[in-house]
Amino acid sequence: MVRVRFAPSPTGYLHLGNARTALFNYIFAKHNNGKLVLRIEDTDRERSKKEYEDMLIDDLKWLGVEWDEGVDKGGEFAPYRQSERTEIYKEYIEKLKQSGHIYKCYCTPEELEEERKKALAEKRPPRYSGKCRNLTEEERKKLEAEGRSYVWRFRVPDGETIIFEDLIKGIVEINVNEFGDFVIVRSDGSPVYNFVVVIDDALMKITHVIRGEDHLSNTPKQILIYRALNFEVPKFAHLPIILGEDKSKLSKRHGAVSVRAFRDEGYLSEAMFNGLALLGWHPKEDNEVLSKEEIIKEFKIEDIHNAPAVFDRAKLRWLNSVYIREKLDLDDLTKRAIPFFKKFGYFGDYEYYKKVLDVIRDSLEVLNDIKDRAYPFFIEDYSIEEGLEFIQSETGKEVIKRFYEKIKDRENIDRNDFKKITKEIQKELKVKGKNLFMPIRVALTGKTSGVDLSLLVEVIGKEKTLKRLERILNIV
Ligand code: GLU
Repeated sequence: MVRVRFAPSPTGYLHLGNARTALFNYIFAKHNNGKLVLRIEDTDRERSKKEYEDMLIDDLKWLGVEWDEGVDKGGEFAPYRQSERTEIYKEYIEKLKQSGHIYKCYCTPEELEEERKKALAEKRPPRYSGKCRNLTEEERKKLEAEGRSYVWRFRVPDGETIIFEDLIKGIVEINVNEFGDFVIVRSDGSPVYNFVVVIDDALMKITHVIRGEDHLSNTPKQILIYRALNFEVPKFAHLPIILGEDKSKLSKRHGAVSVRAFRDEGYLSEAMFNGLALLGWHPKEDNEVLSKEEIIKEFKIEDIHNAPAVFDRAKLRWLNSVYIREKLDLDDLTKRAIPFFKKFGYFGDYEYYKKVLDVIRDSLEVLNDIKDRAYPFFIEDYSIEEGLEFIQSETGKEVIKRFYEKIKDRENIDRNDFKKITKEIQKELKVKGKNLFMPIRVALTGKTSGVDLSLLVEVIGKEKTLKRLERILNIV
């Protein structure tokens, strides 16, 4: 049975890179009828915060990633928070001590820095010299008597090349001399990431480790630890890095990168899911607009490209507009859009919001666009921002007056009435096009472009239309 995990460190918001890792783990698990584990890697006590953990969980749920076991859910291999697994780690550190795979290193940070500088000066890769590797009991006692603290280092088999098959990268070969004997336990007794991740993945029976390419260089170290403890080595799949459009590594410099920021801007979770899945993977057919179910069905990990993925913000916006326009039913869209209306101070009842959305949804790329698009439906005391000339000209004023007169005594006004009335005015005053519609547009919205006027009038209704026209006729 396939078992995968997503293992974020709760040190900040869920960003696009991590969200994509979570997504691919989820999709892979679902495609294979497997299980997804959510494990919180909070060994960095200083930077880890419970608030971040809560937000990660919230963002993952919003995205539509679902896990079977995890911090908030429990499961057979609990606890799922590394800070609660200290005793388990101790047990395995003990095993490595017993088997002689790790040894005490007394070198001070200054000594190590000295070594590092020397290596760099001699153009050698900086790595630990192995100075404390073969200390005698005597020498150790002496160093400890000096009050020196120590770390535990892993005894790396000299010169060995670790070879593994990555499901995305293919055969990877890394010689251990590139890194040398690495630290397993820090001087304060806390175990490092490369060690705890192996213990957790092994004990949680993880079959496939799917994570970002930035961890590729950790993999040989982890494989050495698997071997030392006689654990079965899982399969690895390292996802390509994500670049911005300028081909440098995606970062805050490229604009918002946290899932939270996209959510706040009014991206729909379905579009986000779809867009993230396209970062490194592509469906067989040309159509890239795919539901979660379709992606899960079609997804194969081998199809992930072994090349950097470029994050195209404009494309995600476009995808989002497709979901707003076509994929959600109006009620669903309304429910999700209401917080945005409120955020911009646009208040109405559910039915009113729904009517407005029906008119403007085609013009929205993100729900934040509601601010500009929905404003003529809510704001009565707008100022005339542009096109003043259209309402000040003689014909303009006359158009507005006639329009006012013609709707005054009607029961109400819908889109067809609007068309009929403007036709009449066109005939009576012999004005058309711009000269006919601009005065009405500017009078009703304060702007020279925007929403279809017949729909605006239908939605705001007769009374508001009249009031707006009166106000303008009093000003000009
Ligand atoms: N906590 C690690 C990270 O956030 C997870 C690494 C892994 O998946 O092994 O990068």
